[in-house]
Amino acid sequence: MVLFLSRLLTEPTREGNVNVNWSDGATSAFIDGSWQDVRDGGQHEIVNPFDESVYATSVLSGETDVDRAVLSAKKALGASAWSRSTLAERVAACRRLGAILESQSDELATHMSKSMGAPLSYLKVFMLGSVPGLIEMYIDAVESLSLQYVRSDRHGNTLITRRPVGVVAAIVPWNAPLRSEIKKVVPGLLAGNAVVLKPDPQTPWAALALAEAAMEAGIPPGVLNVVLGGAHTGEALISHPLVNKIAFTGSTQVGRMIGAKAGDALKRVQLELGGKSAAVVLEDVDVSEIVDSLAAGVFANAGQMCVANSRILVHASRYSEVVDALSAQAEGYTLGDPFDQDTTMGPLVSQRQRDRVLGFIDAGRAEGVTYAAGGAAAKLPQGYFVEPTVAAGVESSMTLAQEEIFGPVASVISFDSEAEAIAIANDSRYGLGGAVYSSDSERALAVASHIRSGFVSINRFGIDASGPFGGMGMSGIGREHGPESFESYLEYVAYPFKPGDDSIGNIDLGALQ
Ligand code: NAD
Repeated sequence: MVLFLSRLLTEPTREGNVNVNWSDGATSAFIDGSWQDVRDGGQHEIVNPFDESVYATSVLSGETDVDRAVLSAKKALGASAWSRSTLAERVAACRRLGAILESQSDELATHMSKSMGAPLSYLKVFMLGSVPGLIEMYIDAVESLSLQYVRSDRHGNTLITRRPVGVVAAIVPWNAPLRSEIKKVVPGLLAGNAVVLKPDPQTPWAALALAEAAMEAGIPPGVLNVVLGGAHTGEALISHPLVNKIAFTGSTQVGRMIGAKAGDALKRVQLELGGKSAAVVLEDVDVSEIVDSLAAGVFANAGQMCVANSRILVHASRYSEVVDALSAQAEGYTLGDPFDQDTTMGPLVSQRQRDRVLGFIDAGRAEGVTYAAGGAAAKLPQGYFVEPTVAAGVESSMTLAQEEIFGPVASVISFDSEAEAIAIANDSRYGLGGAVYSSDSERALAVASHIRSGFVSINRFGIDASGPFGGMGMSGIGREHGPESFESYLEYVAYPFKPGDDSIGNIDLGALQ
């Protein structure tokens, strides 16, 4: 039995009593290599978005707990074997971490599904199933870097090293459990840092599993710490003076606040924020070939994806054809119990999120859009469901085209020329992803090259694991995935040698590693 389930979170008793006794003495934060009592803070009720019952509770750490976690991380960098570890040792530790997590993936998927509502099959394939590849990608990436090298040129002789930034505060949301945590913890550890991880209180499972796995994988105490909690815990973490870098994934609103605080304290900051990406459909496409990709781009995970192509820009000559095809796809989803194998779309994560999405749908109606599919809460006896929705007649200035909805709502916008398509695609404060569809890939790329966004896929949805991932504008700062992800987990340190000192060429760089 996996310990993290019994130690930190307790499911309500069968009678539905949420005031459970902690099975192991109210331990709740993973600090310095062991589960430790939370000294201040409260509790968060995790409501199952499918049956609307309180499914579990998680504790909320306060300042004292965060302080202990950060101090432990700082200490680990100063004294533990981690600070003297080789890259090969860190690679081996991360591989062990991945293998342990893989062995727990069924159990993790069950808990994730109960707390965020995504179909079990989706979580198993796209979240947990992709994690081993994600870890290997980070290993390939770090191994491709030159971590120490000599630059000898007419300007001088300098030994250049890449050094860990120090203590990393990693804060993640609920919508991509385990993947989000891995994308911060693994590059952070591979680069030789110590990490304090704070997941969203609705989906703490992956972070808890990571903590246990770190222990089992022999990662020294303090190198990975986990504190559970919400905004209050997050604020204590990012404000801690011993934190050197903040790696944040979440909303633009919170990201801006974190960026401002990080700027004031001159901490390194990486922000992976919201999006309102555009899929541009040129007039030469075969709609039947691309509609699966268009639908997945906006409806997967009930639209709760930062990379959702929630604006679909279609050449006027193909507009109604695309609206019809997309509507047929929308109506083809089976909404229901996330544990049912036939379910292809679960509920939204919370009542608040469902109401927010319905509010946007109402705003669209008031602004004159028509709903070719969906446009309401789904008629199911329970759960925070919204029908997969296709909004037609959307103009770029409308709320539906400008706001990140984070639900299953596609806004279809018409254009008459490539220039107009590019202008509409760029008429957004966000710049995370996007796509261009054309029967001519070179033409698609030419259009894509004018779109200001972190990535623009050609005739597909999404990005390869090792492609740099991150946003422009209000979608954030910095990149995850690939060698580029290590830019923000490593510092450059230069050791200039006296001109004429030949010993620089004989230095055993490996010994410094
Ligand atoms: P959110 O910003 O409310 O919360 C994200 C995390 O920040 C949670 O752990 C939360 O507890 C914490 N937090 C909240 N307030 C905080 C504060 N004041 N100080 C410190 N931490 C705080 O985000 P959300 O609405 O739960 O998640 C969805 C958002 O995340 C969407 O906007 C989505 O686009 C974005 N997202 C972006 C990416 C990306 O890679 N660009 C990936 C996934 C999700």
